[in-house]
Formats: sequence, structure tokens, C-alpha cells
Amino acid sequence: MPSEIDWIEKAASVRLPARHLVGGDWVDPLADDAFDVISPRDGSLLKRVSHGDAHDVDRAVASARAAFNDRRWSGMRPAARGAVLRRWAELVQEHAEDLALTISLEMGKPVREAKNVELRAVANCLRWYGEIADKRPDESPAAGDDVLALITREPAGVVAAVVPWNFPLTMTAWKLGPSLVAGNSVVLKPAEQTPFSALKLAELGLEAGLPAGVLNVVPGRGDVVGQALGRHMDVDVVTFTGSPAVGRAFLRYSGESNGKRVWPELGGKSASVILPGADIEKAARASAAGSFYNQGQMCSASSRVVVHRDIADEVLHFARLQAREMAPADPLLHDAPSGALVSEQHLQRVLGYVRTAVEEGAELLEGSTGRHSVDGHPNGSYVAPTVLGGVKPGMTIEQEEVFGPVLSVITVDSEEEAIRVANGTQYGLAASVWTRDLSAATRVSRRMQAGIVWVNCFEEGDMTVPFGGVKGSGFGRDKSAHAIDKFTDLKTIWMEVEP
Ligand code: NAD
Repeated sequence: MPSEIDWIEKAASVRLPARHLVGGDWVDPLADDAFDVISPRDGSLLKRVSHGDAHDVDRAVASARAAFNDRRWSGMRPAARGAVLRRWAELVQEHAEDLALTISLEMGKPVREAKNVELRAVANCLRWYGEIADKRPDESPAAGDDVLALITREPAGVVAAVVPWNFPLTMTAWKLGPSLVAGNSVVLKPAEQTPFSALKLAELGLEAGLPAGVLNVVPGRGDVVGQALGRHMDVDVVTFTGSPAVGRAFLRYSGESNGKRVWPELGGKSASVILPGADIEKAARASAAGSFYNQGQMCSASSRVVVHRDIADEVLHFARLQAREMAPADPLLHDAPSGALVSEQHLQRVLGYVRTAVEEGAELLEGSTGRHSVDGHPNGSYVAPTVLGGVKPGMTIEQEEVFGPVLSVITVDSEEEAIRVANGTQYGLAASVWTRDLSAATRVSRRMQAGIVWVNCFEEGDMTVPFGGVKGSGFGRDKSAHAIDKFTDLKTIWMEVEP
């Protein structure tokens, strides 16, 4: 058996790059501003990082535009672009340990999960888009003998990718894979909490052969760097994953600038509908785990279990067992079932939701209204997986996205009521249905107002299927060949053919 890595020892010497990537060079920001990146694992300072500002954004967009205009990337054969992405995927795999450790220190997820789940997904995504690069033919409609009609897809130009911290490199790869394979140039703005892993991913992109200027990275504050990208007159597309409020801000920035297209992928309040006759242990455990995984910081988290009254007690029993089995520990330990929340501020927000739920009448069955203590890390941001029973439709905890390890259990008396409750929030990202009755599975999944419905499973899927929502969860779609279309324009070429 290979010897286990001592992550704690490795963490002492981890490299944390902080310069911006512009035009293929590592440059100091033009802005005179900096922020502390704190590790939620123990509250320690990882590094002070310089913020970018609107001038940094101008510089990065100009570099992306120059790279696009001289066709150093967009003019390459698709197969050659694909080869660069596939090489990038290999490099991600080779550097998976260092990237995983960086992510774990930045945002607190167990390093094991970062390596085995997140980095695997990143490599898989880059490889998948690398493989599909030259497998998407254009169209030539049958317009008549005197005409040659072509419908081609052209890269849109300069893409701004603004991403969150919860799956920092997965979300980034989901943006970079399809936008780059289509021939665009990109300016990436990572979340404030996770700049180092993004910069390391970009380093590997350069090493894989991305030409200078095709990928630029400007870390910084959302309301400064993110807003400057959103309002930039020379950005053609914004692809954004994050909160509904900021997603709507990007739509506003677009309307007030050049009308660029914006692809928002926003929050969720996903329901897991468990019907009588389901495999109750599997349904309850998977739904609870789906609510606690990544410390509940998942847009698709199954944060609401909607269960038929006849089986509610059994579901609660298994959900509580699952909660106890996923208690947080130091994320650098091999066997940590869960890690830390992203920050102290976020911890306070999550615990505030739990307190409000109790005040509004929910029953605290597992977890606590206070922080969870983890040995040796009194300043770490840990919250125990929490199960709330007696939650009623309309309560704050039932309506709002908590983005923490908090499961609400809502009891209903019929399939019809379950559908009404599941659809009864502003969100529409994902849902799951648990039943052995094929007709019930079909009926319920058809009526779920959600971009993704899982039947008898949770959070399954691969690169072949799109990920994204409806209603307040936005309308962008990541993954699959459909995501490439977000970054291309249809062009018609109509050519007269002389007889
Ligand atoms: P957030 O909206 O606060 O931040 C996301 C990004 O937007 C960050 O890079 C941030 O710096 C930037 N930003 C913040 N304010 C901005 C502004 N005024 N103008 C421009 N940019 C700004 O979200 P978060 O807290 O980082 O992430 C949590 C949210 O992301 C949750 O709502 C979650 O559901 C959502 N999310 C959605 C998906 C999905 O695929 N649908 C995936 C992961 C996370």
C-alpha cells in the first residue's frame, strides 16, 4: 500500500502564487490595494494578496483582445486546441496533490475530497472538451443547386469568467473548457477566497501550450474586478457562477454597457422528494449526505427533504445517522469526513439561519446553534451537520439558500403536495425523486421546476449532460457540448453558385 501523504507537513511549505497573469506574463497589479486570504481551517493568514482594479481589468481585456484578433488561438485548428486542453488535463493530474492542498487551505474542504473529487473533475472536464474539439461539424443546409449555404459557429471573442469559491477549480474548468475550445480568449476572476489555486491552474495552462494572452487571471474584489469585467465595453460574454444577487447585477452591468451576453448560474434550494416504497435508507442517507457534502456549500445541495408522513420517522432516523457520521475534522487529516466552512463570516451567516429556524418553530434534531469545536483549531470555521425537523413551507430556512450543512425535513401527505412544496421556492436548480414506482418517478420528475432531476440517486452525471437551472437559479448551462454554444455566434454564409 502506498504510504499516506503527510498533508500537515506539506502545508508548511506550500507555494501560494499571487501575481496576476496578463499577456502570458506574471505581473504586479496596477492597483494599490491588498487583502488577507485567511485559511478557515485554523483562522491563520495564508498570504496578503494584491487586489486588481479597473485598470488591471483594462490591461487584461486588452491582452485577451489582442490574442483573439491576431488569431494565435482562434486560428489554430480545433484539433490542435484540443491537444492543448488534453495536455492541460494531464498536468492537472500530475499536480493534483499540490492543487488539492492549496484548495483545502484556501476554502477548508477535506484535502482528500479536493484531490479525489474536485481535481478529478477538473482534469476530466479539460480532457472532455479537448476530445470534442474537432468533433462538432458545421452545417450546410440544402438550399438549392445555385447556392452554397453554410452555418458556422464563430468564437464570440473575449470571455470574462467570474467564479465562486465552493468548487473553485471545478467551476473554473467548467467555464474554461468550453470557452477556450471554441477559440475564445478569457479573463478569469477567481473568488477572493481562492486566488492561489486559480493562478496555479493557469500556470499549468501556459505549460500545456496556451498561447500568451489567451488566458488572463485578475484576482480581486467582486464589486471592483467583477464589476469592471461586467461593465467592460470590450468583453463579449460573461459566464458567471455565484449568488442570485450578483447574477442579476451582471445582467444590469450588461444592460448599462455594451449588452454583452451573460450566462448566470446561481443558487439553489433543491428538494429531495421521498415517496412511500422508496429504498428509505438509501434515499435518506443520500439526501442528507447531499445536503452536508462540501460542508453544504453546494448550489445543488439537497437542503430540503420532502417526505411522505408515513415514512418520515424512518427518514429522519437515517438522516440523523448520516449527520453524525459526517462531523467535521481538520481537513488535512486523511479521514476527515467534512472540513471547515469557507470563512468565519460565512459560519456566522449559517448559524444565524439555524437560530432563525428554531425561533420560527423548527426542531433542532442534530447539530447546534453554535460552532463545532475541532481539536487544535479553536479559530477554525466548523459547523456540525444539522438536521431540522418540523420545518413548514414558507419558513425562512425552507425558502432561502443557507449554503451550509443544514438539512430541513418537511412532511407532506400526498405526491401532489410534495410537488407543490418542492417547486415552492424562487429557485429551480436541481431536485431528486426517490421511489420504486416508475410512473410516480416519471410524473414527479416531469413536474419538477428544475434544470436537473435525479431519480433514485443524487448529484450523479458526467460531462455529457448539462448542469444549470431555471427560475431564480439562472439560465446558464455548464458541461456537455451545449456549453460550447454559449461562447459562439452562429454565422450564415450564403454563396451564389454560377451554373
Ligand atoms: P458571490 O455571488 O458572492 O460571488 C461569486 C463571484 O462573484 C466571486 O468571484 C465574487 O468576487 C464575484 N462578485 C461578488 N460581488 C460582485 C459584484 N458586485 N459584481 C461582480 N462580481 C461580484 O457567490 P459566492 O458566495 O462566492 O458563492 C456562493 C453562491 O454561488 C451560492 O449562491 C451558490 O449557490 C452559487 N453557486 C452556484 C453554482 C451553479 O452551478 N449554479 C455552483 C456553485 C455555486
